[in-house]
Amino acid sequence: MQIFTAEHSGFCEGVARAYQIATEQMSKGRPVFMLGNLVHNTQVIDKFKSSGVKMVKTLEEIISADNGILLISAHGVSPEIYDKAKNLGLEVVDTTCPWVKKAQNIAKQLFDQGMFVLIVGDIGHAEVKGLFGWAGGHAQVIESGDDIKDCISDKKIGIIAQTTQSQENFARIVKMIKKKYPSAEVYNTICGATSKRQKAAVELAKKVELMLVIGDKMSANTKRLTELCQATGTETHQIQTIGELDKKWLKGKIGITAGASTPDWVIKEVINLLWAQ
Ligand code: SF4
Repeated sequence: MQIFTAEHSGFCEGVARAYQIATEQMSKGRPVFMLGNLVHNTQVIDKFKSSGVKMVKTLEEIISADNGILLISAHGVSPEIYDKAKNLGLEVVDTTCPWVKKAQNIAKQLFDQGMFVLIVGDIGHAEVKGLFGWAGGHAQVIESGDDIKDCISDKKIGIIAQTTQSQENFARIVKMIKKKYPSAEVYNTICGATSKRQKAAVELAKKVELMLVIGDKMSANTKRLTELCQATGTETHQIQTIGELDKKWLKGKIGITAGASTPDWVIKEVINLLWAQ
């Protein structure tokens, strides 16, 4: 058995930055609230919870914000959240990834120019919800080609992407939108870390007999890595922890990649288990 790791995998710069900023808040001796998941990885979230961070799904859950800190996740939030947090007396510590910020700024600019924004992304994903807010709350999320027929707008169309989309899917959907709206303006807001991880994963998948993709089920970029590796025809399994690894899968050359929110310690656990076989 040989084990190969993708050239780019695991924590991206945006997640590493969010993790570091959030960790720094732990030592301040003040209540820290996390709005939604800081990053989409259960092991990371559990680590913060065990350090005393209070998880909230909405700001309404915060009864007493006295001297509290609100962590905004790497996926970002809608603009109204900042005002709500301020009104509650919370200090906002914003870990929004700079790539997501860039997409938010483009969404806002397009809305300010009177355009209707189409967001190519996963309906219900935290980042997409935030982008929707920055696009003035009048945008539409396009998850698949089927959603395009429901798009009715006499305004000029601007298209952006959830940062963790695959380039292939974005290009395919843009082509379909362009058939309906030839003058639509396209802004490819897919982040560099996502593209690098996807390219490295596909290159490796083509060379091995089994691909293991390590990452949380709630992580959009991990899901995308799994889909891309499966599309190469190589047997591919996504696992969140070593407990999900079925030893019956193991054979010959094994490739490993991990989502952008998967911490090093989880990747090492899997690799150590493989070496022990
Ligand atoms: S995957 Fe990209 S957009 Fe998301 S946190 Fe990482 S660098 Fe930022």
